[in-house]
Parts: sequence; structure tokens; C-alpha cells
Amino acid sequence: MWRVGTVVALRDETQTAKTITLRVVDWPNHVAGQHVDVRLTATDGYSAVRSYSIASAPNAEGRVELTVEQLPEGEVSPYLTQELAIGDHIELRGPIGGWFIWRPRQTEPIQLIAGGSGIVPLMAMIRSRASTGSTVPFRLLYSVREPGAVYYRNELQAISSRDDWLTTTHAYTRAAPKDWLRPPGRVDTSLIANVTWPSSQTPTCYVCGPTAFVESIAAMLVSCGNHPDKIKTERFGPTGGLK
Ligand SMILES: Cc1cc2nc3c(=O)[nH]c(=O)nc-3n(C[C@H](O)[C@H](O)[C@H](O)COP(=O)(O)OP(=O)(O)OC[C@H]3O[C@@H](n4cnc5c(N)ncnc54)[C@H](O)[C@@H]3O)c2cc1C
Repeated sequence: MWRVGTVVALRDETQTAKTITLRVVDWPNHVAGQHVDVRLTATDGYSAVRSYSIASAPNAEGRVELTVEQLPEGEVSPYLTQELAIGDHIELRGPIGGWFIWRPRQTEPIQLIAGGSGIVPLMAMIRSRASTGSTVPFRLLYSVREPGAVYYRNELQAISSRDDWLTTTHAYTRAAPKDWLRPPGRVDTSLIANVTWPSSQTPTCYVCGPTAFVESIAAMLVSCGNHPDKIKTERFGPTGGLK
């Protein structure tokens, strides 16, 4: 079933990513980690559908927040990041997904690992953890190209410095801040071994990002002793096409 979302707020997240807040009539609410399908239809009837993770924590007010990274040459993301305006309507289907989710009743430690825009559903989990009575500790390992590419920077900093349940480690692949101890480079097994929960704590691990990132991180988690059943993945490979 397609619902209509009205754009009520737009915020630049980085130079290439925009956070879009929608008010959705009859929104059935969601669980952190789920996504929606977004459908755009041109006046001649041509339509394109893409999936976007929900960034906002579950809420009863029918507000749904998405964060979209503009891909060069992309069909849908340039429209959502550059042309969408407050008051515009877009169609949404969902929420979708029952595996890559975090529920406040879970009691085990949580390991989140994001590559680029893969932070979006993990942020919903962090926000959900922050807004419920859960006492579970979270660790986040967040890989980005350079410091300016970090999403939700102030909020993540605020939660990590105020609350001891969230520990955040950034990894930079192209350019790191001055005085950063680790030189720029991809996440490797030694970083995983040093900053993620030891497998003896049996964390549930959520890994999200581009397909190649997700596959290599999942393999590293297994090599560090994590059981494959405890590793949940979401791949942001293109799902586009005509529908
Ligand atoms: C479950 C799920 C959740 C997602 N959540 C998010 C999210 O929260 N935020 C987010 O930003 N994205 C998310 N994505 C990705 C999103 O669905 C889109 O894939 C993304 O926005 C690109 O769409 P697009 O229409 O702009 O690009 P597309 O037109 O689909 O193109 C994708 C890329 O392929 C290249 N390309 C296109 N056509 C060709 C061609 N013929 N030859 C060579 N290269 C080509 C383009 O240059 C572009 O870089 C998610 C994906 C999934 C599956």
C-alpha cells in the first residue's frame, strides 16, 4: 500500500546528503532498522522506486526521517537531495524489513558498524535506544571517507559524551582529522579486534553500507570469533529500476 508523505523539514546533513522529514498520514509506525520504498512519478506516468532506511526512532506522530546521499549520475537521489521542497508530496510504501531490526527488549550488547550512508538505520537504533528504558550498551564503528562526510555529527557527539552506553569510533578512509592516531585507510581486522565487543560478550552485530564494505566487515567479524548468526547485514547496493 502506498501512502503519501508530505515534506515538513529539510536539513543538509553533509555537502552531499540531505535529511528529509516527512509527515505521513496513517503511518503504522516502524521498528528501528526498517526501510521504506519511495516512489516518484513524473507527469507522463514514468515512475522510479528506491529503498531508503528510516533514520528516525519509532514514534507515534507519523513523522518519518530519511537521509539520502546524492550519487553522481543517480536517477532518484539527486532529485531527493536537490529538488525536493517543503510541502512536496512523495509516495512511500512500508515500513519494510523484519531481520535487520533492533528492539528495545533485546538484552545483549550491540555492535553497530556503518560505512558511509549505512549509518542511517543504525542511527534509528541509537535513537530508539536513547528514547526507551533500555539499559543495553552500544558500540558504533563508523567508517567515512573524510571528517566532512560524518552524518548526525553533533547528535552522535552529544550522546557519546553525555551517556556512557554509546562508544563511537570513527575510521577515515581518505583523510583523517589532524592528530588522528590512525592513518587514513580501510577498516581492517586489527581495528575490528580493538574497538568492537569481544565475541565472548556475544554481541549482536549490525553492519550496513555498500555491498563490498558489508561483505568484508562480516568476514572480519567472523574471523574475530563472532558467530555468523549474530551478524545482521543490510546492503545499500542499487535496487533501482522501473516499476
Ligand atoms: C534496504 C536499502 C536501504 C537503503 N537506504 C538508503 C539510505 O538510507 N540512504 C541512501 O542514500 N541510500 C540508501 N539506499 C540506496 C538507495 O536505494 C539507492 O540505491 C540510491 O539512492 C541510488 O539511487 P539513484 O536512483 O540516485 O541511483 P541509480 O540511478 O540507481 O544509480 C546508482 C549508481 O549506479 C550508477 N549507474 C546508474 N546507471 C548506470 C549505468 N547504466 N552504468 C553504470 N553505472 C550506472 C550511477 O552513477 C549511480 O552512482 C538503500 C538501499 C537499500 C537496498
